[in-house]
Amino acid sequence: MPGSGWPETDSAPTRAWRWLQHGARRVAGGALDALLPPHCLTCDAAVDRQGSLCAACFGGLSFVTEPCCQHCGVPFPHRCAGIAVPGGGICPACAQRPPAFAAARAALRYDAASQRLILPFKHGDRTEFADPLARHMARAGAALLARADLLAPVPLHWRRLLSRRYNQAALLSARLARIAGKPHVPDLLRRQRPTPPLGERGAAERAAVLEGGLRALPRRGGAGGRTAGAAGG
Ligand SMILES: [Zn+2]
Ligand SMILES: [Zn+2]
Repeated sequence: MPGSGWPETDSAPTRAWRWLQHGARRVAGGALDALLPPHCLTCDAAVDRQGSLCAACFGGLSFVTEPCCQHCGVPFPHRCAGIAVPGGGICPACAQRPPAFAAARAALRYDAASQRLILPFKHGDRTEFADPLARHMARAGAALLARADLLAPVPLHWRRLLSRRYNQAALLSARLARIAGKPHVPDLLRRQRPTPPLGERGAAERAAVLEGGLRALPRRGGAGGRTAGAAGG
């Protein structure tokens, strides 16, 4: 989930309303509906239930669907695109330099519409976005989740965890594990050193920044098997 900062496109009254709604969620829990009628997660439109999107905001999202590269998950314009391999196709980039991971999938294209979900979730304490985002990830990664033995989040360095107060990847992986019925191991990996924000960096630069930055904890490292991770750092 690249990017930093989040769009300040809303008016001050709208932001104040969201702040009030967010605070009330934390305090009032299940009583929220009685206090504040449900509103769309990313606009002020009324919706049937808390934690959902209105039809317009949902329709603006660009979902990543098949056909896509069997390795990295980049979508293809049509089923015959890509370089044919058993089980599907792979993109030229993966053919030229196979990734270290077996497969990755993304739920949404990163654009203005998805930013309105992702950036407040990552940087704006909108942790209630974890449920709808995890549902989209579960759909996009259904085949991977079915094969996974356990799920683990990409960890934050403890200093960033202190400042952000939560690891958004761990919120997602916990929900994904629940949806998929798989074990969740939140402390499988540890970030060895702090790394700078990756938002504007390309794939090669991201790889260089993260080189040697993560390691499996010894007591967990023997788990083996197929692990599904939830990115977001
Ligand atoms: Zn909306
Ligand atoms: Zn690829």
